[in-house]
Amino acid sequence: MALAAASPARAEWRYARVADNAEGSVTVSVRNGATFVSARQFCFALGCSVFYQWASHRAVIQNKTERTGAIVSSLTSVALVEGHVVDFDGEVVSDEREGYLLPLSLAVRLAGELKLGKITERRTEIAIKSPEPAGSSFALKTIVLDPGHGGNDMGTGFGSIYEKDVTLVYAMRLRDEIMKALPDVKVILTREDDRYVSLPDRAKLANSLNANLFLSIHLNHATNPKVEGTETYILSPDATDDDAKRTALLENDTWLKSAKIGDAGNTIRSILVDMEQTKYIQNSALVASMIHQDLSPLGKTHGLKTRGVKQAMFYVLSQVAMPSTLVEMGFLSNTGDRSRMMNVLFRDDFVSSLVAALKRYADKVKVPEKEN
Ligand SMILES: [Zn+2]
Repeated sequence: MALAAASPARAEWRYARVADNAEGSVTVSVRNGATFVSARQFCFALGCSVFYQWASHRAVIQNKTERTGAIVSSLTSVALVEGHVVDFDGEVVSDEREGYLLPLSLAVRLAGELKLGKITERRTEIAIKSPEPAGSSFALKTIVLDPGHGGNDMGTGFGSIYEKDVTLVYAMRLRDEIMKALPDVKVILTREDDRYVSLPDRAKLANSLNANLFLSIHLNHATNPKVEGTETYILSPDATDDDAKRTALLENDTWLKSAKIGDAGNTIRSILVDMEQTKYIQNSALVASMIHQDLSPLGKTHGLKTRGVKQAMFYVLSQVAMPSTLVEMGFLSNTGDRSRMMNVLFRDDFVSSLVAALKRYADKVKVPEKEN
C-alpha cells in the first residue's frame, strides 16, 4: 500500500483536534490523506495503557479498570478486540517518534468496544504552515530567565544553602553577562528577589512578553550523595529515564501541591496532547545541546560532570509558547557540586559558558539580512 511505502519523515503532517470528552481531547495527524491517532495519545486522553511489543510488530491496548484489551499490529488490518477479530479500514503504522498510529476509524471503534468513552469527531483542521522562515519568530529578541523557586518555596537545600538563593544569584549574573554579550537582546527575570512566583505565573509572564526563549535555572537533589553533574532538560511527555522523571517530579512539586489532583491530571493530559508544543521542540533541543556542549569544558577546568541533555515533563516548560530549556546546574546533595556552585570562579565560568551557548544559538536563529 502506498501509505506504508511513504517515508514517515517526509510525509506531510497536519494536526487537528478531533475529539473532546470528559478526559481530554485526542489530536489526529493526517498522512497522505489518511487520518491517524497515535496510540500513546489515545491512551493518555482516554485513560488506557499501551504496551509495545516491537519485536512481534504489535501493541496491546488495555483498559485498566475493566481488564479488557485489544491487540493491534502493523502487519495486518485486523485487530483482536476482546478476543474477537475486528476488521478495519486502513492500517496501523509504526512510527519511530509517535509509536503506533491507529487509523481514526479503528480508534473510534476501540474507544467504544473497550468502553473507554466516546470519541466525538469535532474536526477543526489546521493546515500546516510551511516551516517558518529561518528565525522569523525564533530570532532572539527577548530571553526570560527563570530562577527556580523563591519565597516559601525553598527548592532543595543543604544546611543553610537553599536552591532558591543560588538560582537567583546565578540568574542575575547571567542576565548581566547576556546584556553585555548580546546588547540587542532584552533579558527579563521571572523574579528579581526572594519571592514566591507560581509556575503558571512564570509562564504567563514569558508569554505576555512574547519572549523567544525561556531558560529556567535549578539545582538538583539525589538521595545518593555520590550522584553529581549538570543536566540540561527539554520538555517531553516521556522522560528519558527514571532519574529524569524524578527530577521533573521534584520541580513540579509546588505546582502539584497547589493544584487539585483532578485539575493536575487534566492539565497534564491536555498539555501532553497539545501538539502546538512540537513547533518549539526542535529549537529547545538546539539550545539545550549548545548549552550541554559549552558546559562540557568545565569538566576539565572545574571537575564538573555533564550528564547530558534529557527530556522530562516539566510543568513550567509546558506552559511557555516558545523554545525553552531547564538547566539543573548540579546536585546540592553532592559535596563536589555544592562547593563548585558556591565558588565565585566556577560561577563566572558557568555563566560564561551559558552566555557562549546563547550567543551561538542567537546566531543560528537570527533572521538573515536582506541582500542589497
Ligand atoms: Zn528546582
